[in-house]
Amino acid sequence: MSSSYKEILAYNEKWIAEKTASNPDFFNELCIEQKPDYLFIGCSDSRVDPDIFTGLDLGNVFVHRNVSNIVNPIDLNVASVIQYAITNLKVKHIIVCGHYGCGGIKAAMEEEGIGKNSPWLQIIKDIYRIHKTELEKIKDETKRYDRLVELNVIEQTENVIEMDCIQSLKGTQDYPAIHGWVFDMRTGKIIDLDLDSKADDKLAPGNRSFFIKLKSLFKK
Ligand SMILES: [Zn+2]
Repeated sequence: MSSSYKEILAYNEKWIAEKTASNPDFFNELCIEQKPDYLFIGCSDSRVDPDIFTGLDLGNVFVHRNVSNIVNPIDLNVASVIQYAITNLKVKHIIVCGHYGCGGIKAAMEEEGIGKNSPWLQIIKDIYRIHKTELEKIKDETKRYDRLVELNVIEQTENVIEMDCIQSLKGTQDYPAIHGWVFDMRTGKIIDLDLDSKADDKLAPGNRSFFIKLKSLFKK
């Protein structure tokens, strides 16, 4: 799996030669502008690089990755990425993609270890607490872990939908399709959780994301 940094530099030279052999203007065209149709929000895990498993080439996908693909509205980084993707790049699709076998989700599920006092993973612990009844009915630990990966994608997708910059586009042609996916490392398959068609239902009172529930608690 590992390669020396010199192999990476050698590969880069080969890649430049291949690209310019098939299209001498490849890099000139690349410099003109980016017009990606997709914003991809995924996990930082080295095994889930969207450029590899989606087949999307340079210029086609704007990417934000962090541990366990979290969309926290108070995270300026992800909020700025979404704002820029919507306002400037005018992406047509936003994809939140988790993956089975996610180390961040596993750490958040464990009583001890790095997840115990991690402020970042606290969000996932809260998602576990909200869905505790459903999750603890699942006796098989791997299946329970898989389900938390899916629930995290659902929650983070809802956080995208609820952002002001997204809500302000509702009813306009610029409103993007918002998708929740899970990449299954065991098979290589992308599983579409089919959330985009249900986005409005998901915003119904009583079925709102953790942050909306939290905000309503403070209002009381
Ligand atoms: Zn992960």
